[in-house]
Amino acid sequence: MKSIVVFCGSSSGNMRIYTDIAFSLGEKLAQKNIDLVYGGAQIGVMGAVANGALTAGGKVIGVLPHFLKTKEIEHKGVTEMILVETMHERKLKMHELSDGIITLPGGFGTMEEFFEVLTWGQLGLHNNPIGILNAGGFYNSLIHQINHMVSEGFLKPMNRKMLLIDENVEGLLEKMENYNPPSIGKWINTKRT
Ligand code: AMP
Repeated sequence: MKSIVVFCGSSSGNMRIYTDIAFSLGEKLAQKNIDLVYGGAQIGVMGAVANGALTAGGKVIGVLPHFLKTKEIEHKGVTEMILVETMHERKLKMHELSDGIITLPGGFGTMEEFFEVLTWGQLGLHNNPIGILNAGGFYNSLIHQINHMVSEGFLKPMNRKMLLIDENVEGLLEKMENYNPPSIGKWINTKRT
């Protein structure tokens, strides 16, 4: 992997671990010479991951829509800032620039980005590994719901397996490096497995 896009909250959350793990992820990406692509803000978990990478000398590319420039408080220290017009353009650009996806704790925006890339992967539109960095068990209930989708017949086990989960940075990156995408798209075999 040469570059990873990180989806995460524009807020910091209530526990220190959320921003701490984001900072460590940024540092680790820099040490591994992996570029960080993210939403371009200096606040919340977003700011923490960018600062971790920059502190360790990494390359950080922010992708920010014009209209969020003040609202999300643009990060002034990134290596490159790409300004786009719309949220859709932002997601597409982040996707084009990266070959892996990591989701850290966040809110609606984070979930929207995360589920879109999962859906694209499920349809075979990309083969990039998609990871959840489950800091402090933040995503336990979401993982429970996703497993429930499988047991209730709404999600194929092979598509569930696309999702890589770990509570620590090293473990998640290792899973992503060894990822094998499913070979059959969602609609090719509609028989339940
Ligand atoms: P949040 O997790 O809600 O704090 O948002 C995290 C990031 O997702 C921020 O950069 C938001 O601008 C972005 N975001 C919020 N809503 C959307 C959306 N509908 N589509 C794409 N990105 C979004």
